[in-house]
Amino acid sequence: MRPKVQNILPMKIKTTSKTIFFSALFLCAACNDPAHNPNEYESVFLQKEDKKATFVTKSKPKKIILMIGDGMGLTHITAGSIAKKSPLALEKFRHIGLVKTHSTKLITDSAAGATAMATGQKTYNGAIAMDEKQNKLKTIVEIAEENDWATGIITSTHVTHATPACFFSHQAERRNVNEAVALEFLSTNIEVLMGGGWKYFNNRADGRDLLAEAEKKGYFIADNMDKFEDYIPKKTICLISPELPERYKVRGDFLPKATQKSIEILNKNSNFFVMIEGGQIDWGGHGKNSEYIIEEMLDFDRAVAKALAFAEKDGNTLVVVTADHETGGYSINGGDLKTGEVQGAFTSDYHTATMVPIFAYGVGAESFTGVYDNTEIFFKLKYLMGL
Ligand SMILES: [Zn+2]
Repeated sequence: MRPKVQNILPMKIKTTSKTIFFSALFLCAACNDPAHNPNEYESVFLQKEDKKATFVTKSKPKKIILMIGDGMGLTHITAGSIAKKSPLALEKFRHIGLVKTHSTKLITDSAAGATAMATGQKTYNGAIAMDEKQNKLKTIVEIAEENDWATGIITSTHVTHATPACFFSHQAERRNVNEAVALEFLSTNIEVLMGGGWKYFNNRADGRDLLAEAEKKGYFIADNMDKFEDYIPKKTICLISPELPERYKVRGDFLPKATQKSIEILNKNSNFFVMIEGGQIDWGGHGKNSEYIIEEMLDFDRAVAKALAFAEKDGNTLVVVTADHETGGYSINGGDLKTGEVQGAFTSDYHTATMVPIFAYGVGAESFTGVYDNTEIFFKLKYLMGL
């Protein structure tokens, strides 16, 4: 029997803790659509300090793969699908939403965008996991580590770049902090770090060799994915380039391979959280370059395919794919479905304020339907992790 409206209105339970739970069991609270089977899953409203409730399901994944296409708007995905001439891995997702990306300014940068997702707070552009008053904000990766979840950070840019840095380090200003971010990494217990930027670890102003220090702490150090062969280390740092990795044409299949290997490594633990960034889709947008966008988009989609294949087999995994913002005010004004040609047009060489899509698959995926702020992603993930 469908509950009466007054019975399903949220009831305040507790006000002492930072997070207050509102309960609305056995109702599809996301859509309130009577056509939706209300018994499909249990859901709750999670009320936060800002009094905004966010919708989550009660099913808890043991493993979470958060994938961020930097600058990946709807048009970037569309361009990828036209060029590929066959469905993207992203098209397999059934739970989809839209995310408002603004920082404390209308148009976010990657640092504030990643900080919102990693910590649940809007902040100023340029902040690496710090609030407006430059207080450090605890990140989802730090919370996971404190609770014995294994964690990983993977990117096709350098690992000290804004998006990955916001998940494990704290800096007031993103510029010129590569060496400081690398040093912060060394005091974490993050199991897997893959991307570019070795010179920030071993060619530093302070003369330290952080890779040698990490090796002493038990990290397997590699400079390309082939170094692993079949080896599954407990902890690893794999940095494929001195600074920024080359674009896809030159760097090849690093991102899908790193996705696969990082999951194999982290899956030795009963719980894991990994953030995987397709970092150069954004650069194609900044360069107003459709070809660059498409190459990076398809590379990222192949990484998504690896994550999905794991999640399908595993059954305890949640995969969430989204973007920090749109880049380029990208549009498609012509092209050819048969040849896969895309005639792109751009309104900007910077980010725009347009909403970005979010896709979810697996345990808890329903939580990501709807239209909401990027900060909600943090609260949804934290709740679903049971932390
Ligand atoms: Zn950008």
